[in-house]
Amino acid sequence: MIIAVDGPAASGKGTIARRLATHYGLGYLDTGSLYRRVGMGMVLRGEDPADEKLAKQAALALSATELPDEQIRSEQAGAAASIVAANQAVRAALRAYQQGFASNPPGDVKGAVIDGRDIGTVICPGADAKLFVTASLETRAERRYLELLKREGAADYTQIEADLAARDERDANRSASPLIQAEDACLLDTTKLDIEAAVAEAKALVDACLAQR
Ligand code: C5P
Repeated sequence: MIIAVDGPAASGKGTIARRLATHYGLGYLDTGSLYRRVGMGMVLRGEDPADEKLAKQAALALSATELPDEQIRSEQAGAAASIVAANQAVRAALRAYQQGFASNPPGDVKGAVIDGRDIGTVICPGADAKLFVTASLETRAERRYLELLKREGAADYTQIEADLAARDERDANRSASPLIQAEDACLLDTTKLDIEAAVAEAKALVDACLAQR
């Protein structure tokens, strides 16, 4: 059983996907972390994430790149990720790993929940259930602001909103696997929902998809 969860940054998709995985007893893969490791690994080596050749090499060598969680979760890593993610060779290098996880997730589980930008469209087009999780830019910026404030003690709302808008623009307008709702995905707008309400709605949508199989 595969559940695909796609959507823009800070829409709540990561938390929703993790909670769905626990609820249905499935493995979980956060594909954004793969792109973040490629992009941030390059930044730390002093490389330019826009350098297509070096980015491809970094993606092919990803299994050797271990980075601490706080480095992967930074805004700098998110920005670097969205630059390398526009590179077709990087996406191709990461595709096999994602599809391998979908068909054979680690552990004693009967499937996987995978979140990202192109899971329902490119990585797992035959997924049993597909969600497209979104929220207004202002709501997403506010969530990211509060998260950063808690984690780092300081945050700049205006900067965060501008960074998210730039990332949305890059992710939606790139030619390689742009962020787009799959035709058969259910839309879940979390703008006015707290996380418990969003998870409850996500479960109801997934149950409805599974009932139709
Ligand atoms: O989801 P997250 O914010 O961690 O993703 C970081 C960046 O990685 C995104 O802005 C996007 O550019 C890229 N990404 C992608 N395809 C995925 C997952 C992430 O292009 N499946």
